[in-house]
Amino acid sequence: MINRDRLWQSHMEMAKIGATPAGGVCRLALSDEDKVSRDLFISWAREAGCTIRIDRVGNIFARRAGTDPSSPPVITGSHLDTQPLGGRFDGAYGVLAGLEVVRTLNDAGTETRAPIDIVVWTDEEGCRFSSKTMGSMVFAGKIDEDEVRAATDPDGKSFGAELERIGYAGSEACGGFPIKAYFENHIEQGPLLEQEGIPVGAVVGAQGQRCFLVTVTGEEGHAGTVPMDQRKDSFLGAARMADAINRAAFQFDPPPVATVAHVRVRPNSRNTISGETVFTIDSRYPDADKLLQLEEAMSAACKEIADNMGLGIEIARTSIAAPVQFNAGCVDAVRRAAEARDIPCMDVYSGAGHDACKIADLAPTGMIFVPCERGISHNEAENATPDDLAAGTQVLLDVVVEAANAD
Ligand SMILES: [Zn+2]
Repeated sequence: MINRDRLWQSHMEMAKIGATPAGGVCRLALSDEDKVSRDLFISWAREAGCTIRIDRVGNIFARRAGTDPSSPPVITGSHLDTQPLGGRFDGAYGVLAGLEVVRTLNDAGTETRAPIDIVVWTDEEGCRFSSKTMGSMVFAGKIDEDEVRAATDPDGKSFGAELERIGYAGSEACGGFPIKAYFENHIEQGPLLEQEGIPVGAVVGAQGQRCFLVTVTGEEGHAGTVPMDQRKDSFLGAARMADAINRAAFQFDPPPVATVAHVRVRPNSRNTISGETVFTIDSRYPDADKLLQLEEAMSAACKEIADNMGLGIEIARTSIAAPVQFNAGCVDAVRRAAEARDIPCMDVYSGAGHDACKIADLAPTGMIFVPCERGISHNEAENATPDDLAAGTQVLLDVVVEAANAD
């Protein structure tokens, strides 16, 4: 059995690094705080008898040896970096759950056939450099290592230079070795498990995502002199489009999520009618076809508004991520492990992207969710209970051992 209090204590210790006054955590990727959290993890992993490897983009692998050194590892873990106003559990839970699995196996003197690697992926959050899940993307061959090293933050500091500065530019090649199975624990970051009163979610897959940049072009004019019926107000058009995008999502049941949250208005002057407004759309759904239908519905609605108002419109697709289905065997292993321990479990989809989504193409992959209070995440108020964290970690222990001992 995993040790609930030790697991909780590890979270509280880790949460001191980059602690914010409001009870959250700020540990931006490759910052001084990120370095201290990595150092702490490595000291704990070494105490637990693990050997440490660090690859060229700073991903850390802490290995508990198996009885068959030729076997590919079972890998479990997540990330230690956070949002600027992040919480204590997003990412850290997956890493510390992996550590607790190793500590529990040590306590019981249990050996496994395959080695177990606890991984800390570099820069999952993507809020400092150019994109999310950078470490796992390089590992999975989805993005070039040099491109990641060259990415800069708003102060012009590069990923590569910052990685070297904190001492985590490792010597190992990034990826390229077989993996027996990959499991990642994470807080749900949504409200469903808590609402249902269920401590463990077997994550079936992750939503697809399609993002757009919409440029609406009107004509600047004097706010006092251009009559209302002769205006080409790009912001007014954008506002109507935002409403239409929201309505388009509600044409589906259940509705996909569609969000307009970043808007730039030019010239952004209170007494000039806006000549150009640029806004983002972030849309997500587990079903790729429906997501495409939503794109068509949103695009048609925006174009109709632009036509009616005499505005120009350009819609550019900025990113597409296909929906991910996790390995059926891994998902079922989570369900079975929960049932065997009498831990209530339900199937869930991940609304957010995770490192596991990148690894899913490489190896049999599964995720285990636990509830977080009111579904709040990417927020200093993020919270989870010691019991739920422990329940998810118990299930992780069982699926990792099963995978490590399988033929
Ligand atoms: Zn996370």
